[in-house]
Amino acid sequence: MSFEQNVRQVIPYVPGEQPIGKGIIKLNTNECPYPPAPGVEKASKLFQTDLLRLYPDPTIGELSQALADYYQVKKEQVFVGVGSDDVIAMAFMTFFNSDKPILFPQITYSFYDVWANLFRIPYKTLPLDENLRIKMEDYLIPNGGIIIANPNAPTGQFESVSDLEKIIAANPDVVVIIDEAYVDFGGESCIPLLSKYDNLLVVQTFSKSRSMAGMRIGYGIGNEKLIQYLQDVKYSFNSYTLNRQSIELGVEAVKDDVYFKETLQKVIQTREWVKKELQDLGFQFPDSKANFIFATHPSYSAKDLFEALKKEHIYVRHFNKPGIDQYLRISIGTDEEMNVLLEFIRKYCKG
Ligand code: PMP
Repeated sequence: MSFEQNVRQVIPYVPGEQPIGKGIIKLNTNECPYPPAPGVEKASKLFQTDLLRLYPDPTIGELSQALADYYQVKKEQVFVGVGSDDVIAMAFMTFFNSDKPILFPQITYSFYDVWANLFRIPYKTLPLDENLRIKMEDYLIPNGGIIIANPNAPTGQFESVSDLEKIIAANPDVVVIIDEAYVDFGGESCIPLLSKYDNLLVVQTFSKSRSMAGMRIGYGIGNEKLIQYLQDVKYSFNSYTLNRQSIELGVEAVKDDVYFKETLQKVIQTREWVKKELQDLGFQFPDSKANFIFATHPSYSAKDLFEALKKEHIYVRHFNKPGIDQYLRISIGTDEEMNVLLEFIRKYCKG
């Protein structure tokens, strides 16, 4: 007998490495290589630290309103959390309470099965097809809820809104979460479907396209009733989730749409150029619409290349998992960073 028999033992999610030091090229956790909008820096300099005496607004009202205005929905349709990880974890707790399994792809964001295990939610994973695409027809079986990342991670593969709509429409008795962490880099959001479906929750983040991974802001958009259920669970867990500075700087980031769109275009341009270069070197990859490329080479071990890159202080992501262990997920950095990466790979391939 020991206390351990009463412990909630879980196998945790393993976040990507966060190496520190000069000269590191960090292409392993899909951050944006460009700084947040200039207004964010300005506001951070003016931030009144004396206000830190006070709790932040538990409703996160100002930021919810800014996002509501941006996406042309009501403030009551927006739920803000500490990164989209927080939003999705809350959504699992709130919406996935059936005895039937929730469904998600076998190859996807590796946090989904961790949350399902943590909250003791039964789940079933569904294989992708040979091109790493989601098989829409698989999601028509009885289930307790569905979560799909679109574009998917780590493949970068984007599925059309009309295909996803078929899944949402066919599953009116459960909540369908579409995780759009990477949608700004050339995908199309399911947010317009909210006017037709009240079982849909769309989740997005400031961590990638808004260059604010370090701030931890994510949000979900759904119909008012669904969001209210989410708020109730949040207030039953931790009411003051976002700190004052995150709320203030988040609002600043949303204000600057010109900077936002320019930054996206830079990342997209670099991605398309890197795709061509990698293709010329014999790499194969799904046609990513995200800020990363999931690449494999028929002649080289992904693990060996990963290690060789790391020795050069170039960090990419390798997943030691069946089916994807021959792939590297390479985040899109600046042109300069990608040039260094490509230069090394060219030498590596020449042997
Ligand atoms: N969803 C997907 C598909 C992701 O890749 C990530 C990033 N790890 C997240 C959600 C969570 O991002 P964040 O908590 O930084 O918003």
